[in-house]
Amino acid sequence: MGPAHRGISPGDGPLDRPTPFAHLRSPELNAAPADQLRLLDVQALDLRLTQLAHRRDNLPEHAEIRTVESQIVQQRDLLVAAQTEEGDTAREQTKAEQDVDQVRQRSTRDQQRLDSGQVTNPRDLESLQSEIASLAKRQDDLETVVLEIMERHESAQARAKELAAALEGLQNVAAEVVTRRDAALAEIDAEAAAVRSDRSVTVESVPADLLKLYEKLREQQGGVGAARLYQRRCEGCRLELNITELNEVRAAAPDTVVRCENCRRILVRTPDSGL
Ligand SMILES: [Zn+2]
Repeated sequence: MGPAHRGISPGDGPLDRPTPFAHLRSPELNAAPADQLRLLDVQALDLRLTQLAHRRDNLPEHAEIRTVESQIVQQRDLLVAAQTEEGDTAREQTKAEQDVDQVRQRSTRDQQRLDSGQVTNPRDLESLQSEIASLAKRQDDLETVVLEIMERHESAQARAKELAAALEGLQNVAAEVVTRRDAALAEIDAEAAAVRSDRSVTVESVPADLLKLYEKLREQQGGVGAARLYQRRCEGCRLELNITELNEVRAAAPDTVVRCENCRRILVRTPDSGL
């Protein structure tokens, strides 16, 4: 970047802030300090629920199950292909064996005719002997074909058996991971139910208007609607309050609901607020 690009860009300037602390006065919301503190308890429980939901969605078992299921699909395809090959070669073998039989039967008939002495014409005898020889050659070739098919059939059979065993292994793995996932889900759900029950009790003692504001802010601010003011820092946005802001908070009545100037969250004062 050359010197021409240097200079003040809009992003470099100090933040333009709205009239400071207008939120402390208008619209004013009051709540007893104890109620404000209870709101922090509600917030802690809500954060726990968010964490549990996140854990639920991101269990490693979900990915494991997806992986093993895709392996099962692949393995099943391979098994179907091997079984098809097994069936095809079995039919091929039957057909080839029938071909051998036909040739053998014809050769036997020719041999019987030859042995019977009924054929006396030398030319016919020669032709019969020649046919027997060529049938023997043909039978030999066909038997080689049968052997080759048998080999393919046996290898397809062995492969199908192997793949079926591997598939069964994968199915066992899948069942084991599903069991593990379900146990983890049950544990998370039980804890979430306990937290929700805690929350419903805690929430009862929080004033409705304060709770409503909290819920609204929580929705707008990524799940955090109320934050502790801890050692002059808003724990919602982690920003430290400046001296003017601190003075405003100090001057506010204990039951005034204070908001963070930066993130607008409800700022709850505690003895550790550093005021
Ligand atoms: Zn803040």
